[in-house]
Amino acid sequence: MKVWIEQDYCTGDGLCADLCPDVFAMNDDGLAYVKDDGGFARTGERVDVDQAMEEAVLDAQAQCAGECIYVSKD
Ligand code: SF4
Repeated sequence: MKVWIEQDYCTGDGLCADLCPDVFAMNDDGLAYVKDDGGFARTGERVDVDQAMEEAVLDAQAQCAGECIYVSKD
């Protein structure tokens, strides 16, 4: 599974980072990003999700106020 965030719609409430800190983190701009290689993935960049994290990612997606967390199966 891959995950990405469209930051244009992120409210900055930090919920995803609270629910799944291994995958999501807040950046200096106050918006959430997917973590990637020790840094932040670019807007819209698809990042592989560790299988153990998939449930938490889907939970964050379901609760995201901005509806801006996207996942794909491939
Ligand atoms: S849950 Fe959604 S709106 Fe909230 S910080 Fe994460 S990406 Fe942004």
